[in-house]
Amino acid sequence: MTRRQLLEIAAIGGAASALAQTPAPAFTLPKLPYAYDALEPYIDAQTMQIHHDKHHQAYVDNLNKAVAGYPKLAAMKVEDLIKQLDTMPEAVRTQVRNQGGGHANHSFFWEVLGPAKDSKPSAALRKAIDAGFSSQSQFEDRLKAAAAGVFGSGWAWLSLDDKNGLVLDFSPNQDSPWMKNRRPLLGIDVWEHAYYLKYQNRRVEYLGAILKVLNWDFISSRYKDLMG
Ligand code: MN
Repeated sequence: MTRRQLLEIAAIGGAASALAQTPAPAFTLPKLPYAYDALEPYIDAQTMQIHHDKHHQAYVDNLNKAVAGYPKLAAMKVEDLIKQLDTMPEAVRTQVRNQGGGHANHSFFWEVLGPAKDSKPSAALRKAIDAGFSSQSQFEDRLKAAAAGVFGSGWAWLSLDDKNGLVLDFSPNQDSPWMKNRRPLLGIDVWEHAYYLKYQNRRVEYLGAILKVLNWDFISSRYKDLMG
């Protein structure tokens, strides 16, 4: 055997063992379900690109790092993972809360949004909204007020509680309805990274814009599925 052949064999062996030692990451960035510019002019393409490709990717990468030594945690769906903070090993709990919450919240957020086409809640969801908040427009006012009132970074949510009641609330940082055993129907990201390029400090203006790109077809279909 020549020295060259030996070197080739060594190189192949090295690559194979590197592959064996590097399993595929447990959590992956979902593809944005529309183009970056699909929410223009309400949400600009550059914000969407940075928000999805950089911010969301960072939550995914950091979550993968956090659970690297915990194959059982790494095998779970992220929504299930963040429901179990109380029983989580202390060494990973804060990272799962922040990075797992960030991954779950953003994966859901991309689905809640969509190109503006004047979609409306289904009749069943409309009935529940009217019962809980008097009317669609009062609901939207209260949602905007909840989102505008978040101090610092966080989210506003419409969720179903364990009795299938509608709940409007907010969460700080990347906390999430799943952590309270609720199932979100819609969420609004009010971290500055969600709007600062286009709206700077004008959060209320951003909230008016985001209401134009809520995908009520998705939200209604999720409501139907969750209500069984
Ligand atoms: Mn965000």
